[in-house]
Amino acid sequence: MTDLARELELLKEFGYTHLDLGGGQAVLPVLTDKIVCPPLDELRAVAMACEKCRLAKTRTQVVYGVGNPNADLMFIGEAPGRDEDEKGEPFVGRAGQLLTDIIKAMKLTRDDVYIANVIKCRPPENRNPEPDELDACRPYIRRQVELIQPKVIVTLGRFALQSLTEKAYGITSVRGQWLEYNGVKVMPTYHPAYLLRNPAAKKEVWADMKKVMAELGLS
Ligand code: URA
Repeated sequence: MTDLARELELLKEFGYTHLDLGGGQAVLPVLTDKIVCPPLDELRAVAMACEKCRLAKTRTQVVYGVGNPNADLMFIGEAPGRDEDEKGEPFVGRAGQLLTDIIKAMKLTRDDVYIANVIKCRPPENRNPEPDELDACRPYIRRQVELIQPKVIVTLGRFALQSLTEKAYGITSVRGQWLEYNGVKVMPTYHPAYLLRNPAAKKEVWADMKKVMAELGLS
């Protein structure tokens, strides 16, 4: 696909329905210059003002993503909880502490990797995201992946895997197996919140992370 076609597709995903090119002047600045992917921070600015779904009304903060924009490894979770909604940063509550421990056990820090969710705003009472909310938010995570170009993505839980790929994978059947999304290797594993409820499953997650470390030359 050409750069222009990609740019137009992205604008469509972000809700633009037409371009006003009257008088030979493009109204969208992104189209007036050299056609480039909006960098991560510009995409963040778009996300911060997002009102594409009902979660915009109840959120405290948009939780866009943190970490190394050139990371080889990206962790993708489900949606912010109460702590993340307050701080504006993904995985800072109890499940987040466990994810941080997993990252440390891989001999990495949170600053080495990139962490984001498929849903950027907290669902009220931490309910599951609705299909239309996942659809509305999907362009953000997909664009983050395109911009970061990680070597490996670890999806945490069912919603992350299913929403990123738009495939109805069952997490228990594919966990620990390499999948692919747009040419990037994907390792589906359990969500840290599930591990808090089922500590015995930690050993399976660690087995998955060892595969990731081997793939990245970390072990
Ligand atoms: N659970 C998630 O999936 N994401 C967060 O950011 C926090 C908890």
